[in-house]
Amino acid sequence: MYAALELIAEKDHLCIQNHASLKEVMDLMNINQKGVIVVVEDNRPVGILTERDIVGMLYRGIDLNARVDQHCKKVLISTRGNRTIGYGLNLTIENNIRRIIVTDDNGLFLGVVTQQDLLKHVEEDYYRADVKVRDILHKRGQLISVALDDTLSQVLKILVENNIGAVPVISDGVAVGIITEKDILKLASADMFLTEAVGEYMTSKVVSCSIDTSLIEIVKLMNTRQIRRVVITNGSGRAINIVTIRDVFRNVEGDYGKFLERKLQNAKDLLNLLPEMLIEVTDLGTEQLIIWANEGVINRFGDGIIDKPVTELIPENSWKKINATLKRAGRIEDIKIQTDHGIFELSGYYLNTDSNIEDGRCELIIRDITEDVKLTVTDTLTSVYNRRFINEFLIKEIARSKRLEREFSVVICDIDDFKKINDTRGHVPGDTVIKQFADVIKNTLRAVDVIGRYGGDEFIVIMPETPNKIAAHVLNRLRQHIADMEVSVPGQRSVHVTASFGVASYPRDGTSSESLLVTADERMYDAKRKGKNSVSHQ
Ligand code: GH3
Ligand code: MG
Repeated sequence: MYAALELIAEKDHLCIQNHASLKEVMDLMNINQKGVIVVVEDNRPVGILTERDIVGMLYRGIDLNARVDQHCKKVLISTRGNRTIGYGLNLTIENNIRRIIVTDDNGLFLGVVTQQDLLKHVEEDYYRADVKVRDILHKRGQLISVALDDTLSQVLKILVENNIGAVPVISDGVAVGIITEKDILKLASADMFLTEAVGEYMTSKVVSCSIDTSLIEIVKLMNTRQIRRVVITNGSGRAINIVTIRDVFRNVEGDYGKFLERKLQNAKDLLNLLPEMLIEVTDLGTEQLIIWANEGVINRFGDGIIDKPVTELIPENSWKKINATLKRAGRIEDIKIQTDHGIFELSGYYLNTDSNIEDGRCELIIRDITEDVKLTVTDTLTSVYNRRFINEFLIKEIARSKRLEREFSVVICDIDDFKKINDTRGHVPGDTVIKQFADVIKNTLRAVDVIGRYGGDEFIVIMPETPNKIAAHVLNRLRQHIADMEVSVPGQRSVHVTASFGVASYPRDGTSSESLLVTADERMYDAKRKGKNSVSHQ
C-alpha cells in the first residue's frame, strides 16, 4: 500500500508569510524548484501562488513590491498528512490540480506534494501498459512553439495567452531547446532584460520521445530526468507535440476508472458469496428499479429481476412504507415483510446521488426468515402451529372478538387409544399416524381455522367467528371423516383411528384463555368418558 503524504511532503522554501512581497515570493520559487508557494498566516495556509500566476503578473506589469496576500488565490484544496499517496493522486486528478497542500490534523502547514512527487511513488500497475503517446495526442491541441530569435517578452506573451508552462524552441522543425515559465521567472528575478532572444536562455537539451513510446516509459523518463514535459517527435525527428505529467495523469484517470470497476467487481464477487440476498435499487423519483442483484437473488428469482421495479420483490404496500423511511432516515433495519415467496427481513441504506440520471441509490439486504419463523411457531413433526404460538394466538383472538363483539370456539381433540397404536405398531408408525391425523384436520377445516399440536396426540383448533353449535357441526363431520379413513403405515397394514373432541366458545364458556381451555379439555374428557369418537359441546 502507499505511504502517507506527510512522508513525501516538502516544506523548505515552500511557504511565506502573508505580509511578504511578490518579489520575495518569486525569489523563493527560484530556490524551491516546485513552482509554487503557500502563503501562511500563523502557520495556517491562507493562499497559494504558482509560477503561472507570477508569470501572469509579470506580463500585466503588476508591482512586485505589493503584498502577496493581495494577489494570491485562496487556498482551495488541502489534505491531511496521514492520507495515502494514492489518495493524493486521486485528489489531484479529481480536482485537476498539480499540487496539494498538506496539513496536520489542526490545519497547520506541513508541506506541499506535487504530481511530480506522486509520480515517483505510485506503483507501475497504475498505468496502462499498452497505451502509447500516440493514443493520447488527440486530446492535445496544436504544438505551440517559438523560434530561436523570438524575444523573451514574446515568449512570455505566448505562455500567458495560451496558459501553458513551457514552449519548445523550434529550428527547421526540430526542437533545439525549451523555455519554461520557471526560466522566465529566474531571468526576471535576476532583472534580466526581456528583449533578448530566447536562443540565448533556453535549456538547449530537450528531452524528446517518439510518438510510439509507451506512457510507462515516459513516466520513467520524467522520473529519472526530473522533468515535467517531453517533446514528442514523429518518425523523422520533427517536433509535433509536447506531453506533460498532467496529460499522463489524465490518462491514468481512464485507467483509474477501470481500477475502480475492478475493485467494485471484486466487492460484488464478495457480496455474491453472502447467503443473504442483496439488491441495489436506483431511485428515479417516480419509480425504483432493481439495477443489480447478487447471486442469492438471481438464483432464487432469476436474472429477469434486474431492471424490474422493486415492487416485483417487495409488495407495493410494504415498499411504500420502506421507501418513505429510507428517504426520511437514510436507512432501515430489520423490517419484516410477508410476500408470496415467504417472510423476509430487510435492512439497508439510501444514498442521495442527486444527478440527472437518478435521485438516489439504495442497497438492501434481504434475509429469508421463513424457516426461522416456521421453527419458532410450528411443530416439526406435523407442521401445524406449536403450543406457544397457539397460546399467543388465543389471547389475541379473545381481544379481537371482544372488540368486535364476536363469538369464536376453541377445540381440544385427542386421538382415542393412541397408546395401543404405539404399543402394537411401534413408535415410528405412531408418529406417522399423528402426522396424518394433523393433515386430515388441516385439509378438512377452513383456512381461517388455526390448528396446533398441544402435545402428544392432542391437538387444538381455534375457529374464529364460529359459535358453539356450528363448531360442533363442523367437528362432527371431521370426526366422521377421521373414523372413515384408513391411515396407511409403510410396511404394515393400514390403521383406523378415532378421536374425541371438546368444544368451548367465547364468550359463553369463558372470556379468558385459561377458562376456555379448561372447559374445552373437560368436554373432551367428557367425550372420552361417554365412549370416545364423539364431539362434546354446550
Ligand atoms: P385416550 O383414548 O384416553 O386418549 O388414550 P390414549 O392411549 O390415546 O392415551 P393418551 O392420550 O393419554 O396418551 C397418548 C400417548 O401418546 C402417550 C404417549 O406415549 C404417546 N405419545 C406422545 N407423544 C408422542 C409422539 O410424538 N409420538 C408417538 N408415537 N407417541 C407419542
Ligand atoms: Mg389419546
